[in-house]
Amino acid sequence: MNNNWGPLGTVLKSAVLGAFGLALSANVMADSPLKRQELPFRAVTIRDSFWAPKQKIYRDKTIPHSWQYVQRDIEDNEIAAGWKNIERGEDSIWNQANLHKVLETVAYALPQEPNPELDKKLDGIIAAIAGAQQPNGYVNALMTVRHKETWVDLDGHHEGYVAGHLIEAAVAHYQATGKRSFLDVACKMADHIYQHFIVEKHEGVCGHAELELALVRLYRATGEKRYLALAKDWIERRGKPWNYSTKTPRSYFMDHLPIRQVSEVTGHAVRTMFYVTGVAEVANESGDEGLKEAARRLWLSTTQRKMYVVGSVGSQDTDEGFGPDYDLPNHGYNETCAACGLLYFAQSMFLLDGESESIDVLERTLYNALLHGMSLEGTTSYYRNPLTDSNNPRYNIWVCCPPCLSRTLLRVQNYIYAQTARDLYVNLYIGGEATAQVAGTQVLLSQQSNYPWEGNVKLQVNPQKDSQFALRLRIPGWCHKADLSVNGKPVLKPRMEKGYVVLDRRWRKGDAVEIKLAMPVERIEANPNVKEDAGLVAVQRGPIVYGAEALDNDNRLDWSVATDPQFQVQQRPDFLGGVSTISGRKADGGQFTVIPFYALANRENSSQCVWLSQTGKSTDITNWNQKLYRAITSP
Ligand SMILES: [Zn+2]
Repeated sequence: MNNNWGPLGTVLKSAVLGAFGLALSANVMADSPLKRQELPFRAVTIRDSFWAPKQKIYRDKTIPHSWQYVQRDIEDNEIAAGWKNIERGEDSIWNQANLHKVLETVAYALPQEPNPELDKKLDGIIAAIAGAQQPNGYVNALMTVRHKETWVDLDGHHEGYVAGHLIEAAVAHYQATGKRSFLDVACKMADHIYQHFIVEKHEGVCGHAELELALVRLYRATGEKRYLALAKDWIERRGKPWNYSTKTPRSYFMDHLPIRQVSEVTGHAVRTMFYVTGVAEVANESGDEGLKEAARRLWLSTTQRKMYVVGSVGSQDTDEGFGPDYDLPNHGYNETCAACGLLYFAQSMFLLDGESESIDVLERTLYNALLHGMSLEGTTSYYRNPLTDSNNPRYNIWVCCPPCLSRTLLRVQNYIYAQTARDLYVNLYIGGEATAQVAGTQVLLSQQSNYPWEGNVKLQVNPQKDSQFALRLRIPGWCHKADLSVNGKPVLKPRMEKGYVVLDRRWRKGDAVEIKLAMPVERIEANPNVKEDAGLVAVQRGPIVYGAEALDNDNRLDWSVATDPQFQVQQRPDFLGGVSTISGRKADGGQFTVIPFYALANRENSSQCVWLSQTGKSTDITNWNQKLYRAITSP
């Protein structure tokens, strides 16, 4: 660890040393003024040189590219609505979810760049979905046009998963446009599910989680408590001896134990991440202490023992699932949707406990695992994201992942800030503006930075009237030295809470805050229990984890990093969409180059790896304090 502490001193140091752990804390009561919430995505605008161009690519390239893959799913709704008469054969049972995720993606895009044509297209598709809705409220056109009996194959039919994505898309559409057309369809479907499972007491729960977290979003959008009750019911249903049709082990579905007894994430990584996000969301909204403890246990199980350095999860090829603790092979599976799920879980844990360490995980996943899933030109993607790969270009396959990724990357706006009634959190350093109602006044916050390549951030705080509230600035877990000033005056001993600098003062229009996060290149080592990474290091600078591609390194990756690599950073605005690359010395005296992990596999075929052999690296088994990764200063 770097001991070069800035004026923030030892308070900051203790916060930083807690990275990858989670100091559990007393939580606020549900609905108290202290409750944390996201800012609505319409309240946040991104203006920077990193995310703004990327989101433009997702709007201009990814969305138009997506339509061809969901044409059949749109048509299924038109058939179910009676607008067309076509016989359908078998198809992947979860397909409607892909359409819902595309619609959600478009909903996030609309406020970013008004597009009346796209808005109208959405209206037409929503009308077809509304037409496909059955008199009892059930809607899943694929099931309807194939005459399938509803709610009988709960493990296989993914009806809860598809419904959850419908709800998430509908909430996003409502929040983006103010129109209730899609939201009304979603409410009727949620009412139908409530009737079927709670009023009529039918058995079982869907094998693919997603509905749980979606219902909490619907509850927040509508204030209807039944939806929260249904979400809680679906969480509590797991671990009961229902009579299921498949012989798959119940741990695959996180259905082997009731949630209050489970202590380890198991099974299919996407389903599990979506499930535990639902647990954290319901815990937060209901105030249920048992569920909060369960969410915290499963958070630690994930982030202290089962997460890759790039923020991916789900190492096992055989079941797309979690392996045993510390079993993190570098050729691991790492489905893109699972990384999306970890990001949602991290945000939910932040909202629950307010720890900056949750956002450390969110940021790690966002800048590395997630961005890696999408090509730089926005049309091809990865389903699997191993850390070591060989001549495996991105491909153009349409499965669950591409639209899950696009909907997530187009709502980065949601993750930058958060608030309580009298606190404003700055979680991610991304340039742009935000407005929030805090302490009885409207606050316009503007942010300028060249993050993630530089750690200098300027914030301007503009309350409509002078007002006392707390600005909480996250000190990232990777940062060991930070300097802070307010209106040009250094703040020498700021208050630190849960990894945040707390500036609780009377704010006036034009107040300026500057924070300088030192961003040296660091070598990261994995906990000695991760046998796969023994003798290896990863390169990280700021939130970006780097990887080596053979084509930058004389077509070889069998070299070692020198004991003193003398890293150098190059800003390369014209390379790979604008990145900083890092070069260093090899053990044999030559030079190596690494590029951001997310930018790997965007040129001709080449081998890639994240973990690099480090000459003379010994294994230090002391002072890990449950952490999974830490920076080292010498091998
Ligand atoms: Zn997927």
